[in-house]
Amino acid sequence: MNRQEEFVLRTIEERDIRFVRLWFTDVLGTLKSVAVAPAELEGAFAEGIGFDGSAIEGFARIYEADMLAKPDPSTFQILPWRGDPPGTARMFCDLQMPDGSPSFADPRHVLQRALDRAADLGFTFYTHPEIEFFLLEQGRGPDGKPVPVDDAGYFDHVAHGTGHDFRRAAITMLENMGISVEFSHHEGAPGQNEIDLRYADALSTADNIMTFRTVVKEVALSQGIYATFMPKPFAEHPGSGMHTHLSLFEGDTNAFYEAGAPYQLSKIARQFIAGLIVHGAEITAVTNQWVNSYKRLWGGGEAPAHLTWGHNNRSALVRVPMHKPNKGQSTRIEVRSIDAACNPYLAYAVLLGAGLKGIEEGYELPPESEDDVWGLTDAERRAMGIKTLPESLGSAIEQMQQSELVAEVLGEHVFDFFLRNKRQEWLDYRHDVSRFELDRYLPRL
Ligand code: GLU
Ligand code: MG
Ligand code: MG
Repeated sequence: MNRQEEFVLRTIEERDIRFVRLWFTDVLGTLKSVAVAPAELEGAFAEGIGFDGSAIEGFARIYEADMLAKPDPSTFQILPWRGDPPGTARMFCDLQMPDGSPSFADPRHVLQRALDRAADLGFTFYTHPEIEFFLLEQGRGPDGKPVPVDDAGYFDHVAHGTGHDFRRAAITMLENMGISVEFSHHEGAPGQNEIDLRYADALSTADNIMTFRTVVKEVALSQGIYATFMPKPFAEHPGSGMHTHLSLFEGDTNAFYEAGAPYQLSKIARQFIAGLIVHGAEITAVTNQWVNSYKRLWGGGEAPAHLTWGHNNRSALVRVPMHKPNKGQSTRIEVRSIDAACNPYLAYAVLLGAGLKGIEEGYELPPESEDDVWGLTDAERRAMGIKTLPESLGSAIEQMQQSELVAEVLGEHVFDFFLRNKRQEWLDYRHDVSRFELDRYLPRL
């Protein structure tokens, strides 16, 4: 047993922990949890805990159903919402095949593999997400629509607002679990909130996002409301994104920074952005994985739909935020397409893969777009060579299935499963006769 594992066992003893939840994530980003008694942990660290993978989305073909969950002791945390002792704790797990090799269906492993590739090139990948979500009343309104908990807008201070109490409780809980929060505020739509996590290496960020979604949902329920990360619950309001700030470091040096260059962006940063733009369409099924995700992207409200970049341009896919010239270490770029209902492990893996491709192939960065891309006509956009993100899950799937890059980053198993699952979702959606159709056609046809 190593020191971290010993520390976990000692803490369990001292803090009277009776249940340890082993957490992992399926291919679609759903959190899975199995509780084990502390006595099982020594064995779990040594050999993993066996489970039947065939019941879990995306894990197993029939012949490889047995899998092992091996807890990562560095992710040990006590779960604050479980109350007084005896307590409950959790650890994220790496998934293995019975022979001890990594499971190719484990999203955490997909990201780990992408990070290893970055490390081979000398880079560490840092991320900092701005997570948006809606707070709703439980149940639905009389018209079947969701009901937001308030009627406020961007940065509004709501006296006695549900959002304040909520954010205070959620942030306290996140901080208790070792997740640092940088900013939080009311977002643009009624009931919409945003909480920004401090930057961290991408694997920790992805783990933190999984924890974040659970904490936010738990706190909402404890306050008698409901939290959702659905990308676009209201046609008439902006949707919820998960803009993520990205940077590459070489040792202690920010590889995106070059003093005196335009916007202080190094060649590596420019090539990375170029990679995101060249491969932006084919990775979108992963960063925006639901039918509903495309209603946000194409619904206006500061979500991007075009493959462009710009300095402080909020309609662009990639925004280069303003930062103080003397703060080279904070140089970063913001990707604005990704939403909070993605699988964060897979989404960060494909974003990294696209950026690294730009570096490896030495892509040239196209000129920035200074205008609001939404304000241009189609002809103007065509003349400027601006391409679009996919318009629907269906077209995102078509682009992804031709992508060597995505196949390589996800690995064959996850790539195949993901596409199969998403094709089915798209088919189900196309078969549905929607309320739009009934309202529009029944009265006149
Ligand atoms: N809610 C917007 C989106 O869907 C983003 C608003 C903002 O700039 O933070 O991406
Ligand atoms: Mg925001
Ligand atoms: Mg942002």
